[in-house]
Amino acid sequence: MSERFCYRCGISESEGGPLIDGLCQVCFRKENPVLLMESEINTELCQNCGSYKKRGVWVDPESYELDELIFEVADNALLENLLLDERIKGVEIVEKEELDAIEEIPVGKAYVSFEPIDWHVEHFPAIVTYYIRVKAKIHELQIEFHEESKEVVVYVRQTVCPRCQKFLGGYFEAILQVRAEGRELSKEERDEIANLVQEKVDEIMKRDRMGFIQDTVEKDEGLDFYMGSTKAARKLAQAIKDRYGGSISEAYQLIGQDRLRSKPVQRASISIRLPKFVKGDIVGDKNGNIYRVEGLDGRGINLINLATHKSEHKDWKSVKRDEMDLVEHEKSEAMVTSLTPNEVQFMDMKSYETFEIEKPKLELQEGEVYKLLKIKGRYYVEGKKE
Ligand SMILES: [Zn+2]
Ligand SMILES: [Zn+2]
Repeated sequence: MSERFCYRCGISESEGGPLIDGLCQVCFRKENPVLLMESEINTELCQNCGSYKKRGVWVDPESYELDELIFEVADNALLENLLLDERIKGVEIVEKEELDAIEEIPVGKAYVSFEPIDWHVEHFPAIVTYYIRVKAKIHELQIEFHEESKEVVVYVRQTVCPRCQKFLGGYFEAILQVRAEGRELSKEERDEIANLVQEKVDEIMKRDRMGFIQDTVEKDEGLDFYMGSTKAARKLAQAIKDRYGGSISEAYQLIGQDRLRSKPVQRASISIRLPKFVKGDIVGDKNGNIYRVEGLDGRGINLINLATHKSEHKDWKSVKRDEMDLVEHEKSEAMVTSLTPNEVQFMDMKSYETFEIEKPKLELQEGEVYKLLKIKGRYYVEGKKE
């Protein structure tokens, strides 16, 4: 049987084999390099928000510390541009010490380590030079692995991401209008809502980069938030509704034509209208019940029935069904001057006039002053004067 020889270098198979496709082990590796990536890579990050492209999609960075941010962006670009021979089906990134220790590699697998060996990150473009190493096996007859290394320079340049281009250009997609029914928003409500909105936007922005607030406009009747995304505006409206109750409506305005897609461009107005009532309001329903409002949220209203002095909860449907509305009332303060099992005599603290009413379902004490409400000629005792 005749000995075979490497057609490239002439070494015999017994010395340099086994031959692979006519090549000795060394020549096979030389003819079939695995680390094919370019030695220069260009990448960019947004100078406004620090985001960069990851698999084609702009993402927010994990770190906003400039040094860390540049390495985060450069590392990502390096790995995204990692190009290996197509016979490599699996890649594992390991620390360089781990790479040194690897002695067994399945066919079609590569282990890669990389480390920055030189960098200038004080100004743009930032430049990071990496030393990248690969250990791989692409043929079953290989008894020695591929071991290749390369220096790769990554240039990190500044740009403005599409989101920030829109943001900086004053773009907005929707207006979130916060109003209250039949009244203006109070100062406290405005402050609370502004805080709630900021909190919620921080949360939304983690998933919807267009969920930014372009502008906030204070109006007599309420607040307008100019939002980068309609979806985010809807989420905010819902968050406000969950906290305070109210109703949401949407309207669209045609603002132009998208020529590329020949589709109309619309701008959404999302309105959240808070309930007419606030804590402390006196309300009545169509059945003649009188209540004091104790609290409101997305589910309904907590009330004190001023005839029974019991707490009641009404959902928004019942509030509507029972035609609950503000009632006109006169406030006064009066002292209990005498008590009988069924009646109580009060003296008005301003006019000193006395009057008698049916004893309410409330513990009263002679000599104490109470807050009273007069509604349609009938007195209600709200409670003791503090
Ligand atoms: Zn050879
Ligand atoms: Zn940006």
